[in-house]
Amino acid sequence: MKIYSRKHYFYICILIKNDRPLKTIDIEIIKSFKNNLANAKQVVLLPHVNPDGDAVGSALGLARVLKNAGIATEVVCVNDYPEYYHWLEGHAQVSFYSNKPKKVKRIVNESDLLICLDFNHLSRTGDMKPLVENFQGPTILIDHHPGPQGFTDLLISHPECSSTAELVFHVLKAMDFEQFIDQTAAEALFCGIMTDTGSFDYNVSDPQTFQTVGELLKYGIDPEYIHAQVYDNYSVNRMRLLGYCLSECMEVFPEYHSAVIYISKETQKKFNFTPGDSEGFVNIPLSIKGIHFSSLFTERDDLVKASFRSKGEFSVNEYAATNFNGGGHRNAAGGEVHASLTSTVEKYKALLSVYKEELIKTKLN
Ligand code: 5GP
Ligand code: MN
Repeated sequence: MKIYSRKHYFYICILIKNDRPLKTIDIEIIKSFKNNLANAKQVVLLPHVNPDGDAVGSALGLARVLKNAGIATEVVCVNDYPEYYHWLEGHAQVSFYSNKPKKVKRIVNESDLLICLDFNHLSRTGDMKPLVENFQGPTILIDHHPGPQGFTDLLISHPECSSTAELVFHVLKAMDFEQFIDQTAAEALFCGIMTDTGSFDYNVSDPQTFQTVGELLKYGIDPEYIHAQVYDNYSVNRMRLLGYCLSECMEVFPEYHSAVIYISKETQKKFNFTPGDSEGFVNIPLSIKGIHFSSLFTERDDLVKASFRSKGEFSVNEYAATNFNGGGHRNAAGGEVHASLTSTVEKYKALLSVYKEELIKTKLN
């Protein structure tokens, strides 16, 4: 029989207490992970392309803890994330492939352990895909999306977690690395949980999420400050764009419990659009009475980016995977199509009748 430390035992107890299956396999993986960390001269952390708050928070929080544990750690991103995450400790040290591909290549090639965070499919590594595929050392994925593709040597996948940041916290505890968590690491992890739950609006039916937040608060973080940094830091242009979109670029289909917002290049130009300006727009139609399914289409240079949100049983994950080359979670997903904005919106409208049954029978949680 394997003898685990008291903390490992405690972790197993947490899993049992919350009616989770006993994840002994995770304990084994976590032991291998810890061994890999101990042997690594440099670790590199990679969140998904177009990183959101959970991807950034998980990467910067984990990086901070690993550095505190004396492990040389680098964070690399495929491209930048919105400015309202730049206040997080460690942002200044992040290297972006979109700006400095040679530097990022060098960091990845010099590292002997790669940790992927907050994605379940290789396509989410964008232009860095070849670097991930050809990575020389061991690789691990820590993620909460359903159905991981299995592109790493080790996998810690818990779709029942609210966020990857929450999962990172459990992993750190199970590794006995809690001692290396400090206030700024806790801030980053809190930021990940807060943004992936829409400020504790969804994915929060599991008591463990709030228990985790309770534990993070003990590190002296200020939740109001973090909330304000992310949600009260928008530009005037973004506010005006939102007003314009809601009045001019939103269509509501009450008979399908659905609504769509589309943002053309022309509209973006009008409001000096910068990445991140439309963050959160897709959630807004869900606050209209009777709307369970909301979509946002944003025109980009060579494609249209899609975002989907739902309430209740309608799975936007499956919808995005089937129709928009995407994926995500049951109630929050995204995708992209190489087509014009107009034809994408037309496709969306045609699909409403295809999904009518499912949209109508959807029951709210
Ligand atoms: P968002 O709408 O905020 O961009 O993304 C919502 C969720 O869908 C996130 O969990 C994200 O990981 C996932 N997602 C967004 N875009 C894509 C995509 O292009 N492909 C896949 N597989 N998932 C996506
Ligand atoms: Mn996430």
